Amino acid sequence: MLNEYVDGTIDPGICEEFERHMAGCNPCQVVVDNIRKTIQLYRVGECHELPLEFRARLHETLRAKWKTLHPKPI
Ligand SMILES: [Zn+2]
Repeated sequence: MLNEYVDGTIDPGICEEFERHMAGCNPCQVVVDNIRKTIQLYRVGECHELPLEFRARLHETLRAKWKTLHPKPI
């Protein structure tokens, strides 16, 4: 879910719910912020599309971080 949120492909309903959660959850704000910065840095480079391998790595890191922050799903 967080992956889709960061990619901007998430369902708007889920997005709203998640944004409400984020508003009161600092660790989530930090994680999403970091991911966004990473993606932005990449996008201003010569490639405008994230290669699948890069995305997979990003999502894996994201999932691991998310798990440490939230042992229980939202
Ligand atoms: Zn959270």
